[in-house]
Amino acid sequence: MKVIVASDPSNLPKLVSAAKSLSPEVIEAVSTDRVSVPVDKLVVADLTLNDCWTSALSEREFDLMLLPSTRDFKEIGARVAARKRISYLSDAQELELSGQLVISRMVFSGRGIEKLKVPLPAVITVDLDAFEPISEGGDPLAVEELKVDCSPRINLLERREREAEVDLSKAEIIVSVGRGLKKKEDLEMIRELASLLGAEIACTRPISADFKWLPEERHVGMTGVRVKPRIYLALGISGQIQHVVGFRDAETVISVNTDPDAPISEVSDYFVVADLYEVVPRLIEEIRKKKGS
Ligand SMILES: Cc1cc2nc3c(=O)[nH]c(=O)nc-3n(C[C@H](O)[C@H](O)[C@H](O)COP(=O)(O)OP(=O)(O)OC[C@H]3O[C@@H](n4cnc5c(N)ncnc54)[C@H](O)[C@@H]3O)c2cc1C
Repeated sequence: MKVIVASDPSNLPKLVSAAKSLSPEVIEAVSTDRVSVPVDKLVVADLTLNDCWTSALSEREFDLMLLPSTRDFKEIGARVAARKRISYLSDAQELELSGQLVISRMVFSGRGIEKLKVPLPAVITVDLDAFEPISEGGDPLAVEELKVDCSPRINLLERREREAEVDLSKAEIIVSVGRGLKKKEDLEMIRELASLLGAEIACTRPISADFKWLPEERHVGMTGVRVKPRIYLALGISGQIQHVVGFRDAETVISVNTDPDAPISEVSDYFVVADLYEVVPRLIEEIRKKKGS
């Protein structure tokens, strides 16, 4: 079996690890720069636009193509599969090969897992959070520089990196607020608590998208950031699945909610039925006392 993995250089080590789990005869990598990964061949091409990636990848022969589950590669993967008239699936979290290829992926925003039998050849995008980068070192056995003659129909006018204020995915402690917070000014006490705990502040989608009290990059969940802190302190958050899916890898979840039946109770290690407006000031006071400040 020949597997092609294709992505920008930073994601290749995880894709190669996913490919190796299937023990194929040949692994070929396609990327935009030289990368030190143990594959049979590395193809380096100057590919920037989705149109060009699609053309370059559609030319190649393979049994299985693995791409990262990013917005762009999901589009590229679907287009390659359509051009070649082969199967396409997105967001694989596990790949198994025993006679045939079976993939597992989350459904219903993480409430369930489905297993699907996929006929080869196929293009599959892989959830990179589910794979560790390849541990085995080594360079490609061969490198090919590919000239791509691509005249894209869609042209890039400008690409600017957004200046992110914070990378929540690396935060150790997170204090997260939901609609239990009554007004923007009350974020002050949340900031104070977060500062005393050395924590980052996060929120549910309504707080950033609807109320605009915090920037979008601080909203956790299906359409926001996925976090895995040691402690996730959820204040006034109901625990809808679209939010919960974003912190399911947190080590310890502590939540404060006035509603004893709030769904967040089911995913919390400690569930405090209380008013956050009583709990937060008391927490601040207690931590201050402990710190002697
Ligand atoms: C397609 C789609 C994608 C979505 N993606 C996301 C996503 O990525 N992230 C996300 O967060 N949401 C997302 N949502 C929205 C999600 O479904 C919920 O609406 C949202 O998470 C609810 O936010 P909340 O918990 O802040 O508000 P609510 O559901 O209104 O909950 C507020 C909670 O605060 C409690 N409360 C009230 N007052 C107090 C108080 N004084 N002290 C303590 N507790 C109090 C209440 O009992 C309640 O449980 C998405 C929705 C859709 C349709």
